[in-house]
Amino acid sequence: MGVILVHIEGYDPAPWIDELKRQAPDLDARARPDVDDPAAVEVAITWRLPFGVYRTFPNLRLIQSMAAGVDHILADPERPPRVPVARVVDPWMARSMVHHVTLAVLRWHRRMDWLEGRRATASWPTGIVFDADAVRVGVLGLGNLGQAVARAMQDLGFEAAGWSRSPKAIDGLVCHHGPDGLRDLAAWSSVLVCLLPLTAETAGILNAGLFALMPEGSLLVNVGRGGHLVEDDLTAALDSGRLAAAALDVFGTEPLPAGHRFWGDNRIYLTPHIASEINPVTATRAFVENIRRVRAGEAPVGLIDPAKGY
Ligand code: NDP
Repeated sequence: MGVILVHIEGYDPAPWIDELKRQAPDLDARARPDVDDPAAVEVAITWRLPFGVYRTFPNLRLIQSMAAGVDHILADPERPPRVPVARVVDPWMARSMVHHVTLAVLRWHRRMDWLEGRRATASWPTGIVFDADAVRVGVLGLGNLGQAVARAMQDLGFEAAGWSRSPKAIDGLVCHHGPDGLRDLAAWSSVLVCLLPLTAETAGILNAGLFALMPEGSLLVNVGRGGHLVEDDLTAALDSGRLAAAALDVFGTEPLPAGHRFWGDNRIYLTPHIASEINPVTATRAFVENIRRVRAGEAPVGLIDPAKGY
């Protein structure tokens, strides 16, 4: 049995290696500096492994993303195409994502920032009204995370609808697809939540054309990837009032650079790519299962289609 390489760019992989060994003591899990022979690497469990490294493992049988997204793997131009790539599919992540999006939607809907700002006057105006019927949440991407978020919004009593690549029939949820479907959804949504994978088709999808379709005073929540958003278009949409606020968890450059103008824009709720935290215990369970599957000649859970990009 070969080596299970664990690499998390910028982070110590030791806790993950320990958890792998705790759950499956027979696995030979190691960090990159502890791998002497690249030919011994059988499975690579990774977050942002530097480009060009996968191709140095001639016997690699699985690239397992440490995230639900695989854009950080597919972007490597030297990735060996014969090696299957899998993403994390974990209900724990969906729960975490639901919490994060709920916080953003309620912060906007209940005007928390404006209310906090009233501290300066030590007074509140009378007649504050929150119109929950005006909260219509459009979810871009109806996968594991998008569907969980759409359901959670409905459970809060808000209207929700979604958009995916292929046509879908989901009980109780209006589902759109294709370019016309995107336009219809944007025109309907007072909150747009991006939970798409970053692919050639979805890069830059959060742009001026889309914002122009949305009702005045809307909220944008980008928890997909930074590459989905055209940053200048967001600033223009906020300046014009088309968007009242945006909640951004992901950025073109991460972490968000110190001098970036978003830091000074209090219409934007900023978080450092933590919308859906990965849980070491449950995610490791998924990794162990995929290692078992690959060794048994079975397809891993979360196998992605490189042609689609997700
Ligand atoms: P899934 O693969 O389960 O779902 C992806 C969804 O996006 C599918 O419904 C798919 O459509 C749709 N989609 C893909 N391409 C297009 C397109 N061109 N047009 C319309 N719809 C499209 O992914 P997950 O739900 O697990 O994760 C979604 C994304 O969330 C990840 O790829 C990642 O970018 C992001 N993420 C962010 C995290 C964070 O902490 N901020 C954490 C985890 C994930 P179809 O159903 O037809 O295939």
